Amino acid sequence: MLPRTFSDQLWLVMNACRGNVAGCRTWPHRNRWGLFYLWLLLSAPAWAQGLELRIEGKEVARTEDVVFHQIDEHTWVGTGRVMANESLYLVEGSRRAALIDAGTKINDLDKVVASITSKPVLLLVTHAHPDHTGSAINDFPEMWIHPAEAQSQFVSHYKGTIRYLEDGQEIDLGDRTLLVVFTPGHTPGSTTFVDPSAGYGFSGDSFGSGNLLLFGDFSTLIASCEKMLRLMERHGIRFLYPGHFNGKNLETKERIQDILALSRDVLSGKVKGEMNPTARFGLSWVVSRKGVRIHYHDGAVR
Ligand SMILES: [Zn+2]
Repeated sequence: MLPRTFSDQLWLVMNACRGNVAGCRTWPHRNRWGLFYLWLLLSAPAWAQGLELRIEGKEVARTEDVVFHQIDEHTWVGTGRVMANESLYLVEGSRRAALIDAGTKINDLDKVVASITSKPVLLLVTHAHPDHTGSAINDFPEMWIHPAEAQSQFVSHYKGTIRYLEDGQEIDLGDRTLLVVFTPGHTPGSTTFVDPSAGYGFSGDSFGSGNLLLFGDFSTLIASCEKMLRLMERHGIRFLYPGHFNGKNLETKERIQDILALSRDVLSGKVKGEMNPTARFGLSWVVSRKGVRIHYHDGAVR
């Protein structure tokens, strides 16, 4: 669930981006980032309060920008302070660790991560939105990303080597493997990383963390939900940790089923969305049912 203030603020910035978050290509790069950071600066205090309090598990690291809590013996969640609990996940194997996403603006993220794990760290990203691929991606010499996301202006600031993820790829961390599952809809290359041995995964914004911003279309989202449900069934995956984890909003099979059912009903015309008065990010419509909310644009019903 993205609080109203968050989406309002983000909207102000993104609207300056001609309301086109997915593309943002028409906008001068420098101005866009300038405004973005201005917004970060203005909005940070509003987000600083209480974010980490809802996350259970032992606190293992804390800076001004991020707090890490333990999920289990070799897995941690980092909670950023800028954009609605933006979440980072550190997943450790016996040979190396994966960092899934890098938050919005986290200073010395490499050092924070090194204080938790002594293993070499591989940076994987779920998608190229600025609350997942912020300044800290430059702390890491390589970044693994979906090819479509690598085209985004939001990662044009990255100075390291971009490596392309493949659907179905297995990332071996040593006695622990992450399975790469492309789950487009939120963005064209949204990616979920699944850990079959642990029985959970990490889905970024693919299923919305309770409030799905659908920049793609419903057919794409439906296919991603069906694919993920099959995979969860096959591998005994109990839930997915979302990109904005507040301690209570795990993406369960039930929730993905609810997103799927609602999406099918919108596509068939059985359910009609309501006008979204602010039309944030160019998403003029909103539909909700059973605690699932989807914001979408005019061309999404196909
Ligand atoms: Zn996103």
